[in-house]
Amino acid sequence: MAEQMLTVHPLGDLDQLSMIGIRDDRVVELERGVDWRLTAGYDALPTWIGKNLDVRYETKVDKIQWSESGATAFSTTGEEFAARSVICTAPIGVLKSGAIQFSPDLPTSKWQALNGLEMGSVMKILFRFKERFWDDGLTMVGCDGPVRLYWTPLYGWGEDATPVLIAYVGGYRARALSARTEAEAVAIALADLDRIFPKVLPSQLIEDSQRVDWCTNENTRGGYSFVRVGGSGSRQALAASDTGALFWAGDGTATESIAAVVHAAYATGLRSAAEVISFLGR
Ligand SMILES: Cc1cc2nc3c(=O)[nH]c(=O)nc-3n(C[C@H](O)[C@H](O)[C@H](O)COP(=O)(O)OP(=O)(O)OC[C@H]3O[C@@H](n4cnc5c(N)ncnc54)[C@H](O)[C@@H]3O)c2cc1C
Repeated sequence: MAEQMLTVHPLGDLDQLSMIGIRDDRVVELERGVDWRLTAGYDALPTWIGKNLDVRYETKVDKIQWSESGATAFSTTGEEFAARSVICTAPIGVLKSGAIQFSPDLPTSKWQALNGLEMGSVMKILFRFKERFWDDGLTMVGCDGPVRLYWTPLYGWGEDATPVLIAYVGGYRARALSARTEAEAVAIALADLDRIFPKVLPSQLIEDSQRVDWCTNENTRGGYSFVRVGGSGSRQALAASDTGALFWAGDGTATESIAAVVHAAYATGLRSAAEVISFLGR
C-alpha cells in the first residue's frame, strides 16, 4: 500500500524517490482538489496557444547553439532557426538522452540538475469491451499485479457510456510490459483482469485494445518528470537563466506548483517568456 501511494505520482521506483523529492514536486497538491478537466480534450490548449504562431510540426531539433547575444536551433532536416533568444522546452527524458547537442556544452549546473531529475516509465493499455462489467460508480481499481491501476475514462465523473477500462502502469511494471510485444502486454493485462473479475472473465468480452507506451516514445523518453533522491533543487537549477540567450521552460522546470502537470508546464512558459522579455530589453 505504501509503495502504491508513493509511486503512483510521480512514477519513479522506490529506490529513485525520496520524501524530500516528493515534497519538492508538491505531490500532496494532487489531494487538494486541484483537478480540472478540459472538456474539448487537452489538444484544445496547445491549439489555442499556437493560434497565429508559426508552429513547425515534424521538426526535430538536434542541436542548439547559444551565446550571450543569440541562439540557433538546428533541425535534423537541416533547417536553422536563428533568434535573439531561444526557450528550450524539451522533456527531461530527451535532454538527458543527449538527443539535443548544445554548443557550447551546458554548464555543469545544468547537467547536475538533469542528473537530479528523472522521467518516469509509464504506459497505458486501453481496453474496449462488449459491455460494462463493473459498477456504475467505479472510478479506479488499485491492484498489486502487473498493472498498478485500472480506471474508467471519465474517472467516475459524468456519463461513462463506452465500456472502456484503462490500465495505467508505472515504474518497473511499465518497463516490464514495454519490453513485451503489444499483443503480449495486452494478454498479460487481460489475464490480470480475469484474476480480478473471475466471475466475468473480461478477456472473453474484449473488443479492442491499444497500448500507449511513453517508455519508448522518442519525443518524451518517459512520462512525468520527478526529482530523484538527492536531487532537491534540480528544478530550480534547470530553470535558472544562466545560459545567455538560451532559456528554459517545460514541466521539468516547474517550481511554483505541483510538477509534471500541464498547468505547471504552462506556468513555466509564462515565467520564461517574462525572462526573455527582460533579457531582450536590457
Ligand atoms: C500518461 C500521462 C498522463 C498524464 N496526465 C495528465 C493529466 O491528466 N493532467 C495533467 O495536467 N498532466 C498530465 N500529464 C503530464 C503532462 O502531460 C505534462 O506535464 C506536460 O505535457 C508537460 O508539458 P511540456 O510542454 O513540459 O512537455 P511535453 O508536453 O512533453 O512537450 C514537449 C514537446 O517537445 C517535443 N520534442 C521532444 N523532443 C524534441 C526535439 N528534439 N525537437 C523538437 N521538439 C521536441 C515533443 O514532441 C513535445 O511536443 C500526463 C503525462 C503522462 C505521460
